[in-house]
Amino acid sequence: MNNLATLLTESARADGNRVAVRQDEIALTYAQLDDASARFATLLQTKGVRPGDRVALVMPNVTWFPVAYYGILRCGGVVVPMNPLLKAREIAFTLRDSGSRIVVTLQRCADQVATAAAEVGADCLVTDSTALDTRVRATEPMPHVVDRAEDDTAVILYTSGTTGTPKGSELTHRNLMTNAATTTRTLLHVGPGDVLFGGLPLFHAFGQTCALNTAVAAGATLTLLPRFEPVRALEIMHDHGATIFLGVPTMYTALLHTGIPDGYDLSRLRLAVSGGASLPVEVLHKFEQIFGITVLEGYGLSETSPVASFNPPDRPRKAGSIGLPIRGVELKLVADDGTSVGPGEVGEIAIRGDNVMKGYWNRPDATADAIRDGWFHSGDLARVDEDGYYFIVDRKKDLIIRGGYNVYPREIEEVLYEHPAVAEAAVIGVPHETHGEEIAAVVTLRGGAQITADEIRDHVKQLVAAYKYPRIVTFTDALPKGATGKILKREIVVEQKASTD
Ligand code: AMP
Repeated sequence: MNNLATLLTESARADGNRVAVRQDEIALTYAQLDDASARFATLLQTKGVRPGDRVALVMPNVTWFPVAYYGILRCGGVVVPMNPLLKAREIAFTLRDSGSRIVVTLQRCADQVATAAAEVGADCLVTDSTALDTRVRATEPMPHVVDRAEDDTAVILYTSGTTGTPKGSELTHRNLMTNAATTTRTLLHVGPGDVLFGGLPLFHAFGQTCALNTAVAAGATLTLLPRFEPVRALEIMHDHGATIFLGVPTMYTALLHTGIPDGYDLSRLRLAVSGGASLPVEVLHKFEQIFGITVLEGYGLSETSPVASFNPPDRPRKAGSIGLPIRGVELKLVADDGTSVGPGEVGEIAIRGDNVMKGYWNRPDATADAIRDGWFHSGDLARVDEDGYYFIVDRKKDLIIRGGYNVYPREIEEVLYEHPAVAEAAVIGVPHETHGEEIAAVVTLRGGAQITADEIRDHVKQLVAAYKYPRIVTFTDALPKGATGKILKREIVVEQKASTD
């Protein structure tokens, strides 16, 4: 049985009474989570979902997420998770591209989702935020898990890869099961007594594998936080005796800023894991000092399920390093012509192994570009030391990571070009103390156009999710260009201002 949903059925069978997932006052045991997702699977089947059909899931971290996630998988469906902060046109793109006929969402996200669903003719299933929604309760539980082949797609995660065009990474049941199993058994040694802090968004690869599937594979408890806020995060960790903290660097910075308030007992916390962007070494050391636990950094991408490398607990931890390739995964550094670089040289990380996606959904050309001779090309530049530890030094691809969220410049540039006053636009990331990077747009105007930076900013703000619009907008007479006319982003200098919101 290769279905990823068996992670849940097996843990429910092993100990149905243990709490699987918590959010505020709601707690679901493994038996309850299994039952609710089995009922939801039947509901989807009655709505015509057949094995291989895509079902979109647009939801923050609430207990409904795992109910719907494992329910979709259980009936053989393919989960297409999306960030609930997306605007209608962004959701409509993903629904259309993935061919999702059903989209599952919460009442509080329903506006944008329903508009998008109506635009593409998809059925919008709106639940409330409690797991035992009446419709699900009235449905009989699906008695079995639909069998899937290990190379069948389980989840399609939308990302822009190295080229800037949004596309879906097809992750198979085997990709996700082995990545969760390795994280559970060899990287974090998670057991049923562990309580994982679930502040990472579950629609993203990091939260989905390392928090959700890892916790469920181990029969551990996941405590969810729908929107990360440091004081609330500390409160939850105190209240529920969290043993493992998982976060992106901006969460570490925010927690350091807050410190541990008096009366908070975090003595059960035994490990912290960072990923998603580079964790500054100074932040890592300060966090370890204040929280009294080790921080282990890992690296990965949506296309690699996501974990590709990690600082393993049984080897010396190297601050600033993304660690060693994990079990079943190989890493190498390559030059532009695909040959391996020499010792000590910087090259692009290429990845091969159980965790590498099947390909980009319906994009054979993009897949062939990214996976060459069986190696997935990451767009990240790194060097490797004499002990085999990798250190990220730069990014080759056009990607901004703001506060843990990926922003693809090309998407924002396209929205800028839609404005009649804009002649040319380039979107770049500039270093930012708390967000890691801030989004800056540099624009040239059409002859005679009169417009302010705020008007440009508001135009983008209206059309994309709030974390994506440029906080800094500047005008220039001409953007730097190479011989072929390509805008040379690395030569753009932006006067750095603090973001206004
Ligand atoms: P995503 O597909 O959203 O998981 O984003 C993947 C990208 O995040 C990678 O290609 C890297 O650029 C970045 N990333 C992930 N982990 C790290 C890390 N530990 N250090 C630096 N960058 C990272």
